[in-house]
Amino acid sequence: MTIRISSRIKLASNREKKTIVQVGDVSIGAEKVVVIAGPCSVESREQMLEVARSVKASGAAMIRGGAYKPRTLPYSFQGLGVEGLKILAEAGEETRLPVVTEVMSPENVGIVEEYADILQIGARNMQNYALLKRVGRVSKPVLLKRGLSATVEEWLSAAEYVLAGGNEEVILCERGIRTYQKLTRFTLDLSVVPLLKQVSSLPVVVDPSHGTGVRSLVSPMAKAAVAAGADGLLIEVHPTPEEAKSDGPQSLRPSEFRQLMVGLNPVAQAVGRSL
Ligand code: PEP
Ligand code: MN
Repeated sequence: MTIRISSRIKLASNREKKTIVQVGDVSIGAEKVVVIAGPCSVESREQMLEVARSVKASGAAMIRGGAYKPRTLPYSFQGLGVEGLKILAEAGEETRLPVVTEVMSPENVGIVEEYADILQIGARNMQNYALLKRVGRVSKPVLLKRGLSATVEEWLSAAEYVLAGGNEEVILCERGIRTYQKLTRFTLDLSVVPLLKQVSSLPVVVDPSHGTGVRSLVSPMAKAAVAAGADGLLIEVHPTPEEAKSDGPQSLRPSEFRQLMVGLNPVAQAVGRSL
């Protein structure tokens, strides 16, 4: 059976040429699996630099860290804002790795664009059309997370907004969807990886950290994602997850991340990729 998506999804659908998003020396959507790692939130300069140095030493190709955090409750840590962006950029410069960070509102796109190499649109904002239109006009790639309960067509339609705005550099990120399953935070829908490869030309990254919400499940699902054909991984890493201001229970310790990178190698090779 051929999987067909709506013919109204034009730019985000399958095209002759696969999209390869180039960020400095890093190509997303090419032979190498791109591992993006770092804390959920940028909490301090010390924390961010420590994580950045360690994930770089383990082989990460990019670093992440949230400065603007979409939290369920207004009382939770909301991120350091511009200060966080500056710290993240410093960590990127020191390690010479590109940085990914979330932008939550159209009015912050300008400032985030100044400091970040890739702009992340969070799951909760996947259908924030004002934000999608705004990042359609930036000259930096966009990592578009799948909405918490978005179908693949809704997700590709969101990508279409960015592409139609003139920004051709969109990376899709599967980060788990809501199901009745309660023992994990979300259900990581890995079948979308080969599915998207059939219906779209955009690169696909998988986030097993949010996709499971459980530290012990992150590495097995990261390997499964690579086996399924993912072009990259987004992994949360924290030096002391017990003290993390957000998403500690799903964050790998630096040593666990190092082990994961070693374990990913043979998986990548088995499917004709490298790390
Ligand atoms: C994050 O990457 O820390 C994040 C908030 O992700 P999501 O939007 O997928 O929940
Ligand atoms: Mn997080």
